[in-house]
Amino acid sequence: MSISFVGKVAIVTGAGNGLGKSHALELARRGAKVVVNDLGGARDGSGGSLSTAEQVVAEIEAAGGEAMANGANVTDYAQVESMVHAARERWGSVDILVNNAGILRDKSFAKMSLEDFKLVLDVHLMGTVNCTKAVWEIMREQQYGRIVMTTSSSGLYGNFGQSNYGAAKTAVVGFMNTLCMEGEKYGIRVNCLSPTASTRMTEDVIPDSKALELLTPESVTAGLIALVAEESPNRMILCAGAGGYACTRIYETDGIYLPPEQQTGENVLQNLDAILDGEGQQEFVGGFNQTIKFVQKAAESLGVK
Ligand code: NAD
Repeated sequence: MSISFVGKVAIVTGAGNGLGKSHALELARRGAKVVVNDLGGARDGSGGSLSTAEQVVAEIEAAGGEAMANGANVTDYAQVESMVHAARERWGSVDILVNNAGILRDKSFAKMSLEDFKLVLDVHLMGTVNCTKAVWEIMREQQYGRIVMTTSSSGLYGNFGQSNYGAAKTAVVGFMNTLCMEGEKYGIRVNCLSPTASTRMTEDVIPDSKALELLTPESVTAGLIALVAEESPNRMILCAGAGGYACTRIYETDGIYLPPEQQTGENVLQNLDAILDGEGQQEFVGGFNQTIKFVQKAAESLGVK
């Protein structure tokens, strides 16, 4: 199997540095016309310059590819819309969206200002929502689209000092869960990428230099390429780092049923072992599945048909 993006148009947000740059270079190398979006700011989101994106475009063009630089701030819907408009004006469509732009404002929750909490949510969650909204109708009409949200182990599993970032990174998983249902019949597939790589975002988080050498952005990009290929999965959280590829899944245990007279907090606590028991656990593909399971369990216990 070989994956080609000839004839496809891709937007990669935050593509001036790190992972986004690596994604953009590889998409272009495989034939995609790429919008290299980047605000060009510092790691905390301050400042900005188009030259960051322009340097990546120059690299793509020097290798024989096609790209355009765009300095839209993903938190600004008007700027995002005009980025999408510019891509369509020049290349006719948008087939692939890689929501990658991100910032950090780390502090323990006790010391974190609400401004820093909101800003991180705005870039990671609303930035992803804005870009997705701006291409959604285009993809529905053309009956084809591949969208990736960038999540993080800090959101999926937690990380000290990253309550804002973790909340935002798990929010995009919830966003994916519904979009992949709504997009499926229009040929739109939505997935999440959970990377771990040595970039400016992690330079002081992963101190061991040997580990840094293994944690290449390119190894993460291989995962991204799989998620935006024509043969991509739908609704997957693909984790990638240092050449390792895995999947995060959310399971619900089978649980217990308590009849009305026993439905107390004390009884729930006393039954935690049974509630946590993994036998019969399931991965649901829609929120309603949970309701059905609980109602069936209750009906069976009460002998109701
Ligand atoms: P990076 O700082 O090297 O790159 C992020 C880019 O996003 C920067 O070039 C920045 O200018 C751009 N950006 C920030 N705010 C923007 C905005 N409002 N509009 C447009 N562009 C903006 O970081 P990275 O490590 O390459 O991270 C890329 C993505 O991967 C982020 O979403 C990050 O949260 C996620 N991630 C990274 C790691 C890792 O190990 N590096 C781990 C988990 C998740």
